[in-house]
Amino acid sequence: MQGSAVRLNGLRKSFGETAAVSGVDLEITDGEFFSMLGPSGSGKTTVLRLIAGFESPTSGTIELAGQDVTGLAPFERDVHTVFQDYALFPHMTVEQNVAYALKVRKVRKAERLKRARKALAEVRLEGFGKRRPAQLSGGQRQRVALARALVGRPRVLLLDEPLGALDLKLREQMQVELKALQREVGITFVFVTHDQEEALTMSDRIAVFNQGRIEQVGTPAEVYETPSTPFVAGFVGTSNLLTDQAAQRIVGQTGTYSVRPEKIHVLEGLEGLEGLEGSETTAPADASQYTTAAGTVAEVVYLGDATRFLVDLDAGGRLTALQQNLETSSADVAAYRGARVRLRWHQRHAVRVPDAL
Ligand code: ADP
Ligand code: MG
Repeated sequence: MQGSAVRLNGLRKSFGETAAVSGVDLEITDGEFFSMLGPSGSGKTTVLRLIAGFESPTSGTIELAGQDVTGLAPFERDVHTVFQDYALFPHMTVEQNVAYALKVRKVRKAERLKRARKALAEVRLEGFGKRRPAQLSGGQRQRVALARALVGRPRVLLLDEPLGALDLKLREQMQVELKALQREVGITFVFVTHDQEEALTMSDRIAVFNQGRIEQVGTPAEVYETPSTPFVAGFVGTSNLLTDQAAQRIVGQTGTYSVRPEKIHVLEGLEGLEGLEGSETTAPADASQYTTAAGTVAEVVYLGDATRFLVDLDAGGRLTALQQNLETSSADVAAYRGARVRLRWHQRHAVRVPDAL
């Protein structure tokens, strides 16, 4: 059983009238890649700054590796923060930037250099040590910031939207690299992001923040497949809820149900339209376990690899269905606007969502 790296107990932080963090309890395990996901202003950065010691809580306590550090200064905590803007020293070389923290700690020069080079190798920047930050690309600067964080081997690395400044391609590449790096060095990562896809692809577990509180903590699959509040259902993935009358008529019970778009098949139209690519026109063997709902296609969005159908249901409400474009082209899908269709999904994919917290 692994120990606890970070533990937050009843954490609150107010700035004047603003409650940035309003009661957070959380335990992060040693060696975990843990993400804090939430919209802008939900309190993620404040929680990170509280863990780092840049802010002190209005109430509550913070433990690192079982020790209460609430009253300790940032340098007395075994954590390191990587900021979105990297905060590199422009007048120093890459190597000097990375070795700087060791110099402050009075590590001998030869040892400093050795460890800085090792850290640069870990982020795949061998041979870049003599350059200055201005001579690097955005992605390379990001890696220098990581090397600088890793060189002191902190127990916990805090990362505040570290990939936010990179373009999409580079960001996706860095997501894979960062995850591999974390596995390799075995340091606990606490990763802040507002990007649900990023959180889903990288994390061991995710905490979903809303208005200074955590609405759900779980693995990516738990958070995506069984959201525990309507907010989580909407923020992680596409909001696709059946409520009120529509739930009563289609599911047969009142309550709120979430059906993920890729779980919904769009079937041939009620008025003789041909079956869509990839949709089965015959009923599945265990038809009794499927739910169907009739509706009209309000909007068709061609995404290249897939098409998104927004369907207004006869029973009320609207659902989005995502279909892979196996052979269809953009010209084909446009013809479906206004078409009558049936949507079908397996009963187990309509997940009951508890009401808001
Ligand atoms: P996030 O990182 O999720 O975007 P923040 O933790 O930065 O959210 O902010 C949470 C809330 O606290 C916001 O309403 C923000 O305006 C407020 N806030 C954060 N820092 C301060 C501060 N230093 N002074 C006043 N209000 C702040
Ligand atoms: Mg922030």
